[in-house]
Amino acid sequence: MSNPNETMIQFFEWYLPADCSLWNKTAMEAEYLSDLGINYIWLPPAYKGIGGNAEVGYGVYDLYDLGEFDQKGSVKTKYGSKEEYINCIKALKQYRIKVLADIVFNQKMGADESEKVIAIEDNPINRNQAISEPHEITAWTKFTFPGRNNTYSDFKWNWTHFHGVDWDESQKKSSVFRFYGKHWDESVDKEKGNFDYLMGCDVDLNNVDVVEELTNWGKWYLQTTNVDGFRIDAIKHIRASFFVDWLKDLSEFSQKNLFTVGEYWSSNVYSLKSYLEETNNAISLFDVPLHYNLFNASHSNGHFDMRTIFSNTLVSVAPERAVTFVDNHDTEPGQSLESWVSDWFKPHAYSLILLRKEGLPCIFYGDLYGIPTKQISAKKELLEKLLYARNHFAYGTQTDYFNDPNIIGWVREGDSEHYMSGMVVIMTVSTGGCLQMNVGKRLANSVLYDYLGNMQEPVYVDQDGNGIFYVKDGSVSVWVKKDL
Ligand code: CA
Repeated sequence: MSNPNETMIQFFEWYLPADCSLWNKTAMEAEYLSDLGINYIWLPPAYKGIGGNAEVGYGVYDLYDLGEFDQKGSVKTKYGSKEEYINCIKALKQYRIKVLADIVFNQKMGADESEKVIAIEDNPINRNQAISEPHEITAWTKFTFPGRNNTYSDFKWNWTHFHGVDWDESQKKSSVFRFYGKHWDESVDKEKGNFDYLMGCDVDLNNVDVVEELTNWGKWYLQTTNVDGFRIDAIKHIRASFFVDWLKDLSEFSQKNLFTVGEYWSSNVYSLKSYLEETNNAISLFDVPLHYNLFNASHSNGHFDMRTIFSNTLVSVAPERAVTFVDNHDTEPGQSLESWVSDWFKPHAYSLILLRKEGLPCIFYGDLYGIPTKQISAKKELLEKLLYARNHFAYGTQTDYFNDPNIIGWVREGDSEHYMSGMVVIMTVSTGGCLQMNVGKRLANSVLYDYLGNMQEPVYVDQDGNGIFYVKDGSVSVWVKKDL
């Protein structure tokens, strides 16, 4: 029987020490993660990037170098060697944790050689507008991987495999250079007119040789690593249909249902919905709009209408395709999309993703273990408690009490398969108070206590299932049955 309360973890944060130790550390944490009830783990990009063993992973140099070849100044990646990566995946799978590999296809960086190319400069803020005549530039676009010496693949990249670059070496000029005869893909995000180009060498996913190479690579990667699915980077910069075909080929090849979640970084739920439709619901997406609602509530000084916390979110319109999350490696302090949900609101935010029926929640390494370089403390105790609550209490019919702008609550009535199940959640970003809620039949005529320990007095639920539940100022309480 499948577990309705599956949970994911993102097992890295941006500022991890560059000590090549994450794969070994992850393997050692496998049992703990399994005990927490983690079903999916998203690991960072495992291939060599432009920054060698200091590279977080998104500046991809060589997809075939999983910490095996002396390239970019090191053999290992930031996270370890190929062998350590494979052993880490084995250890996780022994605990029945499914492993998602981070797939970065939009761009490549750190070319081995430059070449002369005819290019047109497009307006960086409106890429539909050419601002130069075709002219020769010197582009870093030749990837020959001399350090790998044709192992696994003899494919060599050159300018024909890309749409464009952001650097002309001959003029020492930064702009958006589109190669003559190339067009940005149409089915991408419309920000900046056309957001196909993000950074580095923008991979041309219409080039048949590129498609073939990336499909071959995907097969090699599945065989080599035995991962169970993917987290796909930067998909709003990639035509939607590419991954539909790529995943279909790989599913047929591996005979596996490859769970896939895409990063479409937009707070516009309609953009996310239309991407899902274009991919025929072959993938899930991170609920970026919900992240921004959580961020805004946490920075509202108590002036957030809590009835709207799920307004315009993916989990409210496509719950079966939404991967909900609170923060990630890009929202951390100091990062490009910095929008860190304040610490005081983390109990609210994680209750909102972990204790409800809808969505597949993804907890963040930086919350579980802390971010020492940014003085952000670990929230192990909180997350361990909420994950326990998710796994033991958060079952059955869900009834919302989202009527008051300051205090919201919901009931999970529990079910017969989970002995202690059933719960009441109540929270506020403002002044504390109470809500009367009906807990249904299973919890009728019982005594409930605040599992998070924020309220000391128990709540008595009458024979009709009615109880009055309390919450302190700016707090969350999770009411469950007393285990006598
Ligand atoms: Ca692109």
